[in-house]
Amino acid sequence: MYSLIDVAPTIASILHVSLPKTDGVPIPAIVRDLNDYNKLILIIVDGFGLNLYEIFKHYFNFNGMVIGCKGVSMHTTPAIATILTGLYPHNHGVFETRHAYTSDPISVVELASIQGIISAVIMEKIGAKLFRVDQVVEVEEEDAIKYDHQIKNALIKAAQKSVFTVAHFRILDRFYHDNKNIEEAVEILSMNLKDVIICSKDTGIMICGDHPPHNEKNNIVPLITLCI
Ligand SMILES: [Zn+2]
Repeated sequence: MYSLIDVAPTIASILHVSLPKTDGVPIPAIVRDLNDYNKLILIIVDGFGLNLYEIFKHYFNFNGMVIGCKGVSMHTTPAIATILTGLYPHNHGVFETRHAYTSDPISVVELASIQGIISAVIMEKIGAKLFRVDQVVEVEEEDAIKYDHQIKNALIKAAQKSVFTVAHFRILDRFYHDNKNIEEAVEILSMNLKDVIICSKDTGIMICGDHPPHNEKNNIVPLITLCI
């Protein structure tokens, strides 16, 4: 089974970016599918597990390829650092946001930017600040619905000018923590994703979870690939 360590090497291979240190390998089927597109979008969905995807599959009927990936942590910060570096948490050492301030610029999005691929990151303020890329959009909003809405709008806008865009949606995880209706969160998430898909063209889109809901034992997340 593939793992979240394989996401960054897959992106590096699609973008023809050198990723000097990685624990993962490119996923051949995704590289093959997305290789010929001019743009790439990576959407990280907080708290999106494979079981949840299976239960609410009908909301994600985007005609994409879906594979299960092993997670590496039940926490957001180390999991996202793994997705973006291809390194296991013990190798990237980013367990809390403050660690990322002292680590090397080893994320695939920063390496892409350094290597001349116009790249953008759209995330909540503290996380977004860490990235040295062409465009950073820092979103600061307490309300989960408004937060994801702002992320979506910023993503659509940034993707027009960027070759590689990374964004982090949070509504699922926030709704679990607040004991709110998960199906409502799934529906809002799927509508936001559909808006991004509709507004994209000649674009490869990868959507993955960072970890499953915290009450789940199996740390397996979906990785959805779409060619638009
Ligand atoms: Zn998370």
